[in-house]
Amino acid sequence: MATDPDAEIVYRAEAILEREFSTSKVTLAEAQSLVNQISYAEDIDPPMIVHIPVSRRYDALAVPSERVIVVRTNLPTQLTIIHEMAHFLGGMNHGVRFRRTYLDLIRRYLSINHHQTMARLVAQLFPETSSAKSKS
Ligand SMILES: [Zn+2]
Repeated sequence: MATDPDAEIVYRAEAILEREFSTSKVTLAEAQSLVNQISYAEDIDPPMIVHIPVSRRYDALAVPSERVIVVRTNLPTQLTIIHEMAHFLGGMNHGVRFRRTYLDLIRRYLSINHHQTMARLVAQLFPETSSAKSKS
């Protein structure tokens, strides 16, 4: 994933989003319940949340081969969990398919405000691939 040029841009958008509309920190049980809810709605086997406080580089890591989401802290944000679920549903890089899936999950599991802000940030930061029509 170090070779994924879109990753840093997505992380930057998330940092801005968390400043404008922060998302709640959830316990591991709540995180698992969010994962289950999304998985059932999307008809996939729910990955298991595993708390391993190893890497400082990532807040979390999706590991599809092991069907787990590794989280560094025992109080991850909702946005972190949704980001990792977008990997299970939209692919492991941070390309167009991932971003479309991620925005869709943000709209359904966070709020319309989070969705509108993230959609605007993605349109600004990925102008060449964005299909957003409303530019101000
Ligand atoms: Zn990611």
